[in-house]
Amino acid sequence: MSTLFRHLPSVAQVLAGLDADPDIAALPRPLVKEQINDFLDICREEIRSGVIVDAAALALPALMPRLTAFVRARSRPHFRRVLNATGVVIHTNLGRSVLARAAMEAVAEACAHYSNCEFDLTTGKRGSRYSHVEKILCDITGAEAALVVNNNAAAVLIMLETLARGREVIVSRGQLVEIGGSFRIPDVMAKSGAILREVGATNRTHIQDYERAIGDETAALMRVHTSNFRMVGFTKEVSLPEMRALGDRYGLPVIEDLGSGTLCDLAGHGLPGEPTVQQVVAQGADVVSFSGDKVLGGPQAGIIVGRKEYVERIKRNPLNRAVRIDKMTLAALEATLRLYLDMDTARREVPTLRMITASQDSLRSKARRLADAVRAELGDTAGVAMRKGFSRVGGGAFPEYDLPGTLVSVDVAGISAESLREALLNTDPPLVARIEDDTFLLDPRTLASSELKLAAGALRQAVDTIKDKS
Ligand SMILES: *Cc1c(COP(=O)(O)O)cnc(C)c1O
Repeated sequence: MSTLFRHLPSVAQVLAGLDADPDIAALPRPLVKEQINDFLDICREEIRSGVIVDAAALALPALMPRLTAFVRARSRPHFRRVLNATGVVIHTNLGRSVLARAAMEAVAEACAHYSNCEFDLTTGKRGSRYSHVEKILCDITGAEAALVVNNNAAAVLIMLETLARGREVIVSRGQLVEIGGSFRIPDVMAKSGAILREVGATNRTHIQDYERAIGDETAALMRVHTSNFRMVGFTKEVSLPEMRALGDRYGLPVIEDLGSGTLCDLAGHGLPGEPTVQQVVAQGADVVSFSGDKVLGGPQAGIIVGRKEYVERIKRNPLNRAVRIDKMTLAALEATLRLYLDMDTARREVPTLRMITASQDSLRSKARRLADAVRAELGDTAGVAMRKGFSRVGGGAFPEYDLPGTLVSVDVAGISAESLREALLNTDPPLVARIEDDTFLLDPRTLASSELKLAAGALRQAVDTIKDKS
């Protein structure tokens, strides 16, 4: 055994061998050396444990294929593209919304050059960062004023801090939600310095509940979209027009955290009626916040629209500097919002909207192309079939609502759905799929047409890896 160790190539020899691969030659030297050392450590361990028993296996040409794959895999950037075959359109863990082409191009332009980010080209003096999106947000939503911050959590925090710090905000018990990722309305309220005044019962809140809670300390009435959960049965929430009327009677602002928010009425696409931002503004909410990267389909951002007096106060809040939106986001957001100037254009160009509103025919056709591609890669060893199934909007929008579509099931003899799922996490690119009742499923809704072949290729890599190991 000890003689075997002497047959291991040196780091310098390995490095020289690897340099023939242009991709590896382009990597930072220290990174490659570190991977080589790790690889040689693995070889030493395999000699010790008797996995490697002859010197021929340690010759550089024999080690090369495994070594190249090892160094490539370990030197990849950590942040990577992933194929989303889960059918969850707004998948927070997978980066939420895929941007429209126009938004992507605007980001590239904003990164590559200086810009008028905070510079007024009419005066040649310092300008406002919000100027790029304020007018278009007002035009689309009908609001008097607008600003944007880092995300909707920050939007809620700064609305409350500005309008209600040290005073009470009245919220229905049915709306004290946890969105996930540790965003809970009572906690955010506490962090803002506002005092939560909860009213009503878990399932039912009446206008009188709000009215009885109003006192000298009241700063605002607040409504929160329940997002990722839905209450059914004997329930009641107070409508926005009723809240508006109550606010008017007592001179109190009405704050609305819409969560996802949508600028485009999706009721025509079979989705349950959700008020659009435009409707909420028209019904008299004073300040409304929603996310840039949920149903809107833009970059991560928190959008605040509403009455000028309140929005201007929020803009002047020093906290605003800490939750400031960056130039790449601004560029992407403006480009996305421009698509909404025509709703048909938005539905066609914004990937999130396109995926949510995809027709049954287009989903069936995409499933067929995906199934064909998978069959072409896996051959007769795999059972590939199309079946009716459901996708989800995700991102807390349209909770518990199933989007009907066509899925592709894949069954490879001798390989469990779970091991296939696991192996797909290490393919290039990785693919995230779904398992239902022990069946491995691909949902084509969240794969672009250009990704169908890549998905099939990933399956092939996964199956090959599993077979190599056994
Ligand atoms: C998603 C959501 C948030 C948080 O928005 P982010 O953009 O994730 O920061 C806040 N409130 C509600 C109701 C939500 O659904």
